[in-house]
Amino acid sequence: MKMNLPFPVELLEKLACPACAHRPPLRWQECLLVCAACHRAYPVRDGIPVLLVEESTKWEPPPTEPSPEEHS
Ligand SMILES: [Zn+2]
Repeated sequence: MKMNLPFPVELLEKLACPACAHRPPLRWQECLLVCAACHRAYPVRDGIPVLLVEESTKWEPPPTEPSPEEHS
């Protein structure tokens, strides 16, 4: 799977959601850093993740996810 990260993947492992107390790791999703816990999406500008709550947008997962193998 190709992620097309604009920054090193090691950085992604260090990033955490600033809005969540337990700082869950962020997911890279469609050019945004998405927090799975609070569903905030943080932008990346010029390769720099903007981890500011006021800069975040509400992440809404697509209603129909085209994933071939979905386990419930
Ligand atoms: Zn969060």
